[in-house]
Formats: sequence, structure tokens, C-alpha cells
Amino acid sequence: MSTWIEDVIKGLDDLNGSASLSDIYKKLREIRQLPHPKSFDAIIRREIESHSSDSEAYTRKGDYFYSVEGLGGGVWGLRNYLKNTPIAIDADIPLGFDEPARIHQETYRILRDTNLARKLKLLHQNKCQLCGTQIELQNGKYYSEAHHITPLGNPHDGPDIAKNIIVLCPNHHVMLDYGAIKLDQSLITAHPKHTIDTQYITYHNDRIWGKVDNQ
Ligand SMILES: [Zn+2]
Repeated sequence: MSTWIEDVIKGLDDLNGSASLSDIYKKLREIRQLPHPKSFDAIIRREIESHSSDSEAYTRKGDYFYSVEGLGGGVWGLRNYLKNTPIAIDADIPLGFDEPARIHQETYRILRDTNLARKLKLLHQNKCQLCGTQIELQNGKYYSEAHHITPLGNPHDGPDIAKNIIVLCPNHHVMLDYGAIKLDQSLITAHPKHTIDTQYITYHNDRIWGKVDNQ
């Protein structure tokens, strides 16, 4: 039987990497076999807090979780879904200063992998559909990222279907997320079992390309 911590990680993974405590409790009730102890919710909460360096209860036994909206917000995420994206912003320079003041701000992009996204990454052997890059990790596995071309959730409400997903290297993923590049169907490496629908490419080019305000 799996341990509590294994099940909490699995539960958050099933919830696409982040969720409120109440959703996590609900998911864990599906995952954990009966009987559920009376202190079920408290055990899960303790597992999360003791495995999060964001919490004072952190025990340094593995920093698996982060507090999505700050402590007390009750929303927790899997730390390995986070991708650190430092952004340099040139602040207004007061007169009389020679050196430009530079503020470093860190933002996080949350990488959500649906089951479908995972399957497509395998189908493409983790090769970027734009440049062919295939990143090999130390453990012999390969790394790629799946991007929903019309993004999931508000305000885009793109669907989680294969026709709306493209497999990318991290560089091209950032470029698409931030609208830095346009998509051209003829330049995307296709796979016989995976066709991207033109309507989502059009959406990217019309609504996202050059329109993401990242600051
Ligand atoms: Zn690429």
C-alpha cells in the first residue's frame, strides 16, 4: 500500500498540479482505501505542510509542495510543476543616477500536464514540433513540454484535446506562452496520429501573438 505522502503527490498530480485543500481532501478520499481515519483531513494537511519549505512545519524531508496564493490561502501546488522565469524590468531612472536601477522580479509559469499531454509527448518522442530539439536527461529519459495552443481556462477556454496541443522544447514553450512568435502550420512537424487544428493556430496568431503583457 502506498504511503500518505505518495498519495498526496498523486492526488495533486491528478488535479493538474495545484488545488485547494478541500479539493485535495476530496481527491484523496477517492484515492485512499477505506477505512478513512477521523483525522483524515488533518493528516493530509500535515503531510503537505511538513513537505513544504513555504510552511513553518517544514521538516526538510523533501520540499514537494508550494503555497500557491501565500500561506493561509489554502491552495497548494506541486513544486515540480513550477518553472522559474526571471524577468528583468528596467525601472524609471531618477535623474542624477548613472547606473540604471534594475529590479528583478520572478514569476512562475505553472506547467499543467494533462494525461493527454503526456501521451502526445510520448508520441512525438519528446521532440519539439517547431525545432526538433529533444532534451535528454541524466536518467536516460527525455524532456519536453506540452502547450495548449488556445490556453485552458479563463479567458481563452481552450479545449484539452489533441488538436489543440503542440509538443515543444522549453524555449519554444516560453515563446508561445508570451506571444513572442507566430505559428505557421506548414512549419510544425506533424505526426500521422496527431493533427493540430488550424482554428487554434489562428487563435494564437490573432489573440496571443504580440498581445501578452508580461509585466
Ligand atoms: Zn523548440
